Amino acid sequence: MADIEKLKTLFEELPDGVKLIAVSKTKPAEEIMELYNAGHRIFGESKAQELIAKQEVLPKDIEWHMVGHLQTNKVKYLVPFVTLIHSVDSLKLLKEINKQGRKHDRVIPCLLQMHIAEESSKFGLDYEETCDLLESDVYREMQHVEILGLMGMATFTSDNEKIRKEFRQLRQHFSNLRKKYFSGKENFSEISMGMSSDYQLAIEEGSTMVRIGSSIFGERQTSET
Ligand SMILES: *Cc1c(COP(=O)(O)O)cnc(C)c1O
Repeated sequence: MADIEKLKTLFEELPDGVKLIAVSKTKPAEEIMELYNAGHRIFGESKAQELIAKQEVLPKDIEWHMVGHLQTNKVKYLVPFVTLIHSVDSLKLLKEINKQGRKHDRVIPCLLQMHIAEESSKFGLDYEETCDLLESDVYREMQHVEILGLMGMATFTSDNEKIRKEFRQLRQHFSNLRKKYFSGKENFSEISMGMSSDYQLAIEEGSTMVRIGSSIFGERQTSET
C-alpha cells in the first residue's frame, strides 16, 4: 500500500518550487491509483517498458517522468506522451528524442544527467562531455528537444558531507552551464536531485525536483534501482 500520510507530510515539508516525482517503479497500477486518488499527478519510472505499460492503463492526466537509463530503441514509445526525460546521457540519445519529437510534432522536455557520484555504475555525463554536447552543431540544430536543466544521483553512502558535496557540485555545474549556454533562457531552471534517503540534503543544496520512491511506496522487492 502506498503511504498517503507520508505523501502529505512530504508535501508540507517541500519548499515552494520543489516538485515531487513519486517514483513508482516495480509497484502495481493500483498503488499508483491510491496516490492519484489522493490528488497526486506526477509519477516517475526507471524502465521504459514498465512506464509504457502503466501509462496505457492509468488516467491520461498523469504526468510521466522517465528517470532511469533510456535506450534509444525505446524512445519512440515514450515520446508521444512523456512529460520529462531526466536521464539524457548522450548526444546519440538526444538525437533520437529529437527525431521522434519531430515525428510526433512535439518538443520533448529533457534534463541532462550528470555523473556526480563516486560509483562508476551510475550513468551520466561529466562537465566536459556536457559542454561538448551543448556546443555541437547537431544539438544546436535540434528543434524538438528542450533542455530544462540537470539531473544527478549522489553516491549511496551514509556520509552526508559526501552527498552534500556531490549535490553542490551538480548545482555548480548548473550555474556554470546556465551562464555559458542558456543565458536569457529562463526555462533552463531545473535541478533534479534527491531520493528517499537524501532529499533533505538535496533541497538544502538547491534541488527543484525530488524523485522519491520507497519513502512513499515502501521498500521494493528487488534490490535494483
Ligand atoms: C529508484 C529511483 C529513485 C527513487 O529511489 P528511492 O530511494 O526509492 O526514493 C529516484 N531516482 C532514480 C533515477 C531511481 O532509479
